[in-house]
Amino acid sequence: MKLPALTIDIKKIEHNTKAVVEMFREKDINVAAVTKLYCGNPIIAQASVRGGVSMLADSRLENLIKLKDIDIPKILLRLPMISQVEDVIEYADISFNSEYKTIKALSEKALEKGKIHKIVLMIDLGDLREGLSAEDGIEVVGKILDLKAVELVGIGTNLSCYGGVIPSTENLGRLSDIAMEIEDKYDIKLEIISGGNSSSVYLVENGNMPARINNLRIGETILFGTEAAYAKRIANTYSDAFKLHAEIVEIQEKPSVPTGEIGLNAFREVPTFVDRGIRKRALLAVGRQDIVIDNISPEDGDIIIVGGSSDHLIVDITDCKEDYDIGDILIFHTHYTSVLQAMTSEYVEKVIINN
Ligand SMILES: *Cc1c(COP(=O)(O)O)cnc(C)c1O
Repeated sequence: MKLPALTIDIKKIEHNTKAVVEMFREKDINVAAVTKLYCGNPIIAQASVRGGVSMLADSRLENLIKLKDIDIPKILLRLPMISQVEDVIEYADISFNSEYKTIKALSEKALEKGKIHKIVLMIDLGDLREGLSAEDGIEVVGKILDLKAVELVGIGTNLSCYGGVIPSTENLGRLSDIAMEIEDKYDIKLEIISGGNSSSVYLVENGNMPARINNLRIGETILFGTEAAYAKRIANTYSDAFKLHAEIVEIQEKPSVPTGEIGLNAFREVPTFVDRGIRKRALLAVGRQDIVIDNISPEDGDIIIVGGSSDHLIVDITDCKEDYDIGDILIFHTHYTSVLQAMTSEYVEKVIINN
């Protein structure tokens, strides 16, 4: 195996998907598996399709293109760029939208292609990323319904991503109310009421999800077995489907506090140190260009992560029972931001296992 490497366990992702789909089925909520963390890799996406999700979703069209041969509805999560409407219609069955100008451009292009493009209108419930106010959202539906080649299939919201606003019975209850208001006012039926991402999972777990919410877009909970509002583990899921493997290139005993005047480090931070005396340290050939070092944890619980720079990770192995040597491989469990970085680092080998 070329190192550093990120192993991706397909069986664990399939298992986690099943657990999430089952938990949601009891509440009549369907799941769109979000594929952006793994850059739309179709082999990984297939694990979630086997796990029973009803749709795939990604924020980037490049990733949806990679998924084009998987026969399941696909959502474009990030608001479309007007410059790409032609590809949006080609590769996304549904796109999330907030701007009438873009929706009109989608309709015109779809008409030209002889297609009907489905859209979900995004409502902002306070997190302040994408979406219209309730009032503007209800208003614009009238204009959307006049367009020839787009079909409004639902409304949705995104929470906790920018502002950290936690999904609640109150704010998602408002989304339900807005849906009913739109249905009453225009005498239509909305099929999809999409109530957020992995930060909404806890409401499903504790039975407090408002009744009209019938769709969530889930990345983190499927991939790491955690919900995202409080970072709690979800029962019957794996948290270690993604593991980082890195090789030891130096082992030396060193003081735990550097010698000399301390200024800015390579990341323009002034570092601080805990004095543990002379310690045995291993230097690994992986760094902050590849991973977020405070978002990984060693599989060997006696290893302490000391720090890192762009190309190196420094760990303290003094307390380890295992007698590590140069050339040995250390394994780390990862979480969202580390995998995000590793997936887009060309220096990290991605190795699919248990497929
Ligand atoms: C990324 C994203 C998601 C999935 O988020 P997770 O926290 O990984 O579940 C859902 N919806 C939108 C709009 C997104 O951009």
